[in-house]
Amino acid sequence: MQPREGDTAPINVKTLDLGGLEMLAQSMGQPSYRGRQLFEWIYGKHAQSFKEMTNLPLAFREALAARCFLESAALAALKTSQDGTAKALFTLRSGRQIETVLIPEESAERFTACVSSQVGCAMGCTFCATGLMGFSQNLTPGEIYDQARFMDALARKRFGRGLTNIVYMGMGEPLLNYASVLQSLALFSDPHAMDFAARRITVSTVGLARRIRAFADDDPGANLAVSLHAPTAEKRSQILPVSRGHATGLGPLLESLQYYTRRTRRRVTFEYCLFLGFNDTTGDARTLVDICRRVHSKVNLIMYNPVPGLDFARTTEARLNAFARTLADAGVTVTVRRSRGQDIDAACGQLFAAQQQA
Ligand code: SF4
Repeated sequence: MQPREGDTAPINVKTLDLGGLEMLAQSMGQPSYRGRQLFEWIYGKHAQSFKEMTNLPLAFREALAARCFLESAALAALKTSQDGTAKALFTLRSGRQIETVLIPEESAERFTACVSSQVGCAMGCTFCATGLMGFSQNLTPGEIYDQARFMDALARKRFGRGLTNIVYMGMGEPLLNYASVLQSLALFSDPHAMDFAARRITVSTVGLARRIRAFADDDPGANLAVSLHAPTAEKRSQILPVSRGHATGLGPLLESLQYYTRRTRRRVTFEYCLFLGFNDTTGDARTLVDICRRVHSKVNLIMYNPVPGLDFARTTEARLNAFARTLADAGVTVTVRRSRGQDIDAACGQLFAAQQQA
């Protein structure tokens, strides 16, 4: 994003990419390399004010403070589960709140930050606490970036090592905040910011076919996950309102994924949350196998964290194992993600909901 000419409103520098910061510096009578210095202060050194940017001329710092601001989200709550999962609630400049989760794997080899891309969500998935809230606002690239940076610092403090993975699986549908998500991906990978390998980042979508094609064309190097959660269009439409009205069934989605895998040469992860008695039979698993034969993919089975007030229950261990075995026997790569942080409302949107009720 770049500053708009003639705009007199205060500029949030954390909405600008490197090119935008260089233009800003030039528009204020500075050489463009000052923009690179600004970038390094904001994203590499996490400066909270222009005053701290001591290698910038004093007059430039004062001019920046007069014309621009550095947004930062304030930590409103931090809870830690008995299993080590940590969940942070941040208050944005707008006063609205978002959630971010740090998930340490039991092996202590993977530390994953789950970031939000929007406040609330317009997708209205019927099993999701965030879906109940509706959509409020898109996050800026800086607001997305800062969530992972916070969790990286927390992991270093608590476990002695930083994040190994970042997933866009918190509040919101990332592909509906497309420009900011792309810009935040570039920030994560920038050697002057987090220098985080794009192949260790996963963007998760509910399955917006047109946006998936755009994501394949832009190919920021990150992985793609699709919240499938049911193996037929009919069942999917019961829990994912966005998939309703597709008379052609799962066709457009699967075609967009075939396009993605051809274009990027990466496989897709199907996220599949098991709900007791709804999508967890071996018949469902066999239908899922057919989908996996059409799209270069793997499947991540998820044990559901029940949300109070919603009509879904978690499946049993026996049904989960039978489902996973059916997939594996058919040659599908399958992993199982057990729910973490149940004692701290760690399912997407739950901490926010609990705060509202308190
Ligand atoms: S599951 Fe994801 S896409 Fe669906 S309502 Fe929740 S946040 Fe939105």
